[in-house]
Amino acid sequence: MTFSSKIQAVAICHTPYKQKFGIPRQPGLVSAARGFVELQPPFNHIDTVRGLEQYSHIWLLFSFHENLAQGWKTTVRPPRLGGNEKLGVFATRSTFRPNGIGQSVVKLHGIHQQKGKVMLEISAMDLLDGTPIIDIKPYIPFSDAIDDAQGGIAHDAPVLAEVHFTDTVQQQLSHYQQSQYPNLQAIIEGVLAQDPRPAYKKAKADPKQYQVALYDLDILWRAIDGAIHVEAIRPSNV
Ligand code: SAM
Repeated sequence: MTFSSKIQAVAICHTPYKQKFGIPRQPGLVSAARGFVELQPPFNHIDTVRGLEQYSHIWLLFSFHENLAQGWKTTVRPPRLGGNEKLGVFATRSTFRPNGIGQSVVKLHGIHQQKGKVMLEISAMDLLDGTPIIDIKPYIPFSDAIDDAQGGIAHDAPVLAEVHFTDTVQQQLSHYQQSQYPNLQAIIEGVLAQDPRPAYKKAKADPKQYQVALYDLDILWRAIDGAIHVEAIRPSNV
């Protein structure tokens, strides 16, 4: 059945995450990551969010816009299961799904109105920079939080790896810890502690150097004996 409701972006999300690789697989995993939800016309009026400041958290419904062209399949291989086992698309949080809609609870830090823009300041998101937001709703604890819920294959939070920085990187970090890169070190730690490599790479020695893009920086790192070693930070455009 099709229906005639027209879905449009009510907002655009600005985040430090410039590429899909490395973004946490769910919200709440990297609380240091701060971002903004910028309301888009004709919704960019402070009245559309009047009262939302009373809530500590909000739901963001959004489009997995970077994956829409690739469509969806009946079954997917969740990274949690090492990519070996298939589950139904509706039994997973796969980004390749009919209608391509994602949903995340994020922390709301404030609502700002400046130069004709209305911005919601958020943290702990799992969204790519530039993601179209199709709806925003308050998170309601009495109903949305379920104490005895069963989490299936994703019952427990991911196991975290240790993250080490070389002396050179530590020096670079003190240079980059400016207002332009809020919480940079904590975001790098939070992102890399999840070890974003595909499961088959984690199973054996992996000499490859990987890269994640945060803000306009590339973070270069390697996994050695189960720990993550950050080897360099450089501007993304070099
Ligand atoms: N919490 C949401 C949900 O359950 O619907 C998203 C979960 S999904 C597994 C999270 C992943 O989506 C991130 O790690 C990132 O790789 C990917 N992602 C985030 N924003 C995206 C976008 N706009 N387009 C495509 N993929 C995106």
